[in-house]
Amino acid sequence: MSVMRVAQVAEPGGKFEIVERELPEPGPGHVRIAVEASGICHTDAMFVQTPFPGITFPLVTGHEVAGRIDAVGEGVIGWAVGDRVGVGWFGGQCGHCRPCRQGDFMSCFNLKVPGLSYDGGYATHMVAPVEALAHIPEGLDAADAAPLGCAGVTTFMGLRNSAARAGDLVAVLGVGGLGHLGVQYAARMGFETVAIARGQDKEPLARRLGADHYIDSTASDPAQALKELGGAKVVLATAANSDAMSATIDGLAPRGRLVVIGVTDQPIKVTPLQLITGGQSVNGHASGTAQEVEDTMAFSARAGVRPMVEKAPLDEVNTAFARMLSGAARFRMVLTTGM
Ligand SMILES: [Zn+2]
Ligand SMILES: [Zn+2]
Repeated sequence: MSVMRVAQVAEPGGKFEIVERELPEPGPGHVRIAVEASGICHTDAMFVQTPFPGITFPLVTGHEVAGRIDAVGEGVIGWAVGDRVGVGWFGGQCGHCRPCRQGDFMSCFNLKVPGLSYDGGYATHMVAPVEALAHIPEGLDAADAAPLGCAGVTTFMGLRNSAARAGDLVAVLGVGGLGHLGVQYAARMGFETVAIARGQDKEPLARRLGADHYIDSTASDPAQALKELGGAKVVLATAANSDAMSATIDGLAPRGRLVVIGVTDQPIKVTPLQLITGGQSVNGHASGTAQEVEDTMAFSARAGVRPMVEKAPLDEVNTAFARMLSGAARFRMVLTTGM
């Protein structure tokens, strides 16, 4: 029997354990991927620790996957064994709900998420529907490609779909797992880029990543500092801190937008008065489709954007997971399989 190895969690709140399973055959419209690298995202912790609606255990998480197709199911068109592919948060659309029929696959009411709807990438192999696949361009390592399926596409598309145009002042709030990518994308897209973070520690890094300006939010009022720079067309809020987000709103230029991607359940505080005069707005943004993951990877390969990753072998998943949870990782933990 051919086997694969997966890191599974047997019950909510449990530890990962490496187990062998029979190598699955991909069904119609699916491919099997030999996983080379799999990023660890904060959302994985939510799936593992709390009984989430629709989750079944044992659970194999992982929605930042990079590898090669090693088997193709019936009826698959356009994908072949050996293709380098990524699978991100977007794990496939249903095709029949109202948003799908309107072509808005990202808003699919039945959106599949790898590691939630089906076994994810903390494994040597996984099976995915072709709707979830993104081509990985040459020149992009698997370990660099993997985090682009969630952290990368979220920041890239948050900026690409924003109101900002070349030369506009764009601020990235937070220089962490999402923000260190956001700063690079903003700079490479041709925006005058501002990084906002707590303290002076992150300034050299932010500048190295391409920031033209740095605001230490503990030393000055970020809204005032943004105003002095002319006001931000967009603030990409990557830090999962609602107070920090609220504190930037008065720094938006007329028609400026606070684009929210950092996940928290705490309320953002804003008054109608702050939004009305200059027509500013606050909007959320979620991830991106498989095609948008592919666009993110292509842009990153061409423009020289790379996530900062720490690699760990699949067998050390518990240590790597703890490192991500504690915030010690700079900035993305990526599990490697040696495949
Ligand atoms: Zn994620
Ligand atoms: Zn749908």
